[in-house]
Amino acid sequence: MALRNIRIYGDEILTKPCRPVQMMTPRIKLLIRDMLDTMYDANGVGLAAPQVGILKQIVVIDIGEEGSEALVLINPEILETDGEQTGQEGCLSLPGQAGMVTRPNYVKVKALDENMHERIVEGTELLARAICHECDHLKGIMYVEKVEGDLFEVTDEPEEAAEE
Ligand code: ZN
Repeated sequence: MALRNIRIYGDEILTKPCRPVQMMTPRIKLLIRDMLDTMYDANGVGLAAPQVGILKQIVVIDIGEEGSEALVLINPEILETDGEQTGQEGCLSLPGQAGMVTRPNYVKVKALDENMHERIVEGTELLARAICHECDHLKGIMYVEKVEGDLFEVTDEPEEAAEE
């Protein structure tokens, strides 16, 4: 298991747009494995490559639902959204804080998996929120730009990391 350093809000790399992945390489495979390890170690539900300092369009998500497996989304593109949800959101790049963010309640995303095969993923509720949050990271956008009201502190709350 290899953990990578999570970049913290204020780090310029978190404001930069990411490049698409052109081909899978052993280095990128390793990056994806490390991102998963890092996300689980931090009790997050998602992590985007720029959060570990790599400006590539790669995100990993695992909302921890029974029977669900980790999603690896490469070059994700949101095709469709529907509805609205407003709820608490946090980020591994801003530990101990959260804020209220409105997101679509449904998203359909097209992406490549770790074998560079195209896949379509649909998500609602927490998964939809996680997909939107992570795709924003790839554009250099942090959720704090979308927060309604003020950020608040969260301590020792299992949901704290719930929103990556
Ligand atoms: Zn985040």
